[in-house]
Amino acid sequence: MSKSIIRKVLFLGTLAIVGIIVVQSYWLYKSWDLKDQEFNFSINIVLRRVALGISKYNNTPLPKKNLIQRRSSNIYAVNVNGQIDAGILEDLLYQELIRVSIYTDFEYAVYNCESDDLVYGNYCHFAEKTTHKNQNKLLPKFDKLTYYFVVHFPNRQGYIANNLINNLILAFLAVLTVLFFSFSMIVILRQKKQSELQKDFINNMTHEFKTPLASIKIASEYIKNNNTILNDQKLAKYANIIYDQNERLSSQVERVLNIAKLENDSLRLEITKLDLKELVESIVNDENLRLQKQLIKIECENGQFLINADELHLTNLIYNILDNALKYSDNNKDVTVSITNRGNNILLAIQDRGIGIPQEDLKKIFEKFYRVDTGDRHDVKGFGLGLYYVKIVCNNHGWTINVESKPNFGTKISIIIPDQK
Ligand code: ADP
Repeated sequence: MSKSIIRKVLFLGTLAIVGIIVVQSYWLYKSWDLKDQEFNFSINIVLRRVALGISKYNNTPLPKKNLIQRRSSNIYAVNVNGQIDAGILEDLLYQELIRVSIYTDFEYAVYNCESDDLVYGNYCHFAEKTTHKNQNKLLPKFDKLTYYFVVHFPNRQGYIANNLINNLILAFLAVLTVLFFSFSMIVILRQKKQSELQKDFINNMTHEFKTPLASIKIASEYIKNNNTILNDQKLAKYANIIYDQNERLSSQVERVLNIAKLENDSLRLEITKLDLKELVESIVNDENLRLQKQLIKIECENGQFLINADELHLTNLIYNILDNALKYSDNNKDVTVSITNRGNNILLAIQDRGIGIPQEDLKKIFEKFYRVDTGDRHDVKGFGLGLYYVKIVCNNHGWTINVESKPNFGTKISIIIPDQK
């Protein structure tokens, strides 16, 4: 991912997060406010009905103004202009709360004007329908009122929160989404940093390796062609060795660094129509000749297997997989390359009977620089770039690559090449 895309994703993501948080907070705040108003409205109706009940019982009229007063968000005083019987008051409160479906605990106190005392009534639990004395001890007095009772709803917040449970769940999910997004961003940024470090490292290595190799090339060329050296057979031989080995090293370094620099989208293909069977046969023959043994076998149906592919990259791909098949087979070097028709697809498979790959490593072997940790048992050299390159070649051709492997039984790498017509 390029820097500017990451910056844009970061910016838009942060904007989206801020937007979500603002909308969620506003939405929650509004819902809470609405529920609070709803609660207040219902409680006013309840208390008015209770007051009416008491006035009927006492046969006294209710005051025209200021019947209900609210102290804090959950304490109300009701002015009834007459004596209040605590038992009747409690019954009425229960009845009227049930009528409006508010099942939240309450406690009440009745003002005694003779002793100027607010006499605590009861703490009434809805869930158990039981009452407990002495829960909230002190309810506030209301000046300027003579006959009144005070009701307190201690669980008002909890009641509203319960009613908002769906909104709270949604808000929680939104927070989870935000956290998940932030986590993803951190992972992306970390990976980006790692890949930048890798790139810097490869660029430095390119410079550090290539400069001395080029100098050695010039110097060894000069030495090799120098008359004094040419006259001495032994010296000429050593000079040639230096030159040849330097050439070999240069091409190795070039190859490794080129693959290390390779990204999925940086491979350019030159597609031609070719016969896969012919190509595989020529590679396998060359390899068997080099190995001086028929270690690699071919299993193939008759006929041609025409595909569209970049010959150079396909050749490298086959060599890489064959190299691995031989490299990771201890003494049991027995490799089979098969080409078969699978419906409209062509299946190219390379099977060995080597050390195999543990299950947990199978997914990672195509990553850049990944090598299976084999401890000290198998001292096989490599850079962890062969299969990375193979995967890129497959991706760019639109082929699918699969690996099946079992430790100590061998590995089979299959490439599915879709219909080429
Ligand atoms: P390397 O240069 O290490 O061989 P590759 O990218 O070609 O890098 O392979 C990655 C890793 O996958 C290797 O280090 C090896 O552990 C494992 N591997 C690949 N092919 C085989 C195979 N045929 N059998 C066993 N292990 C294999």
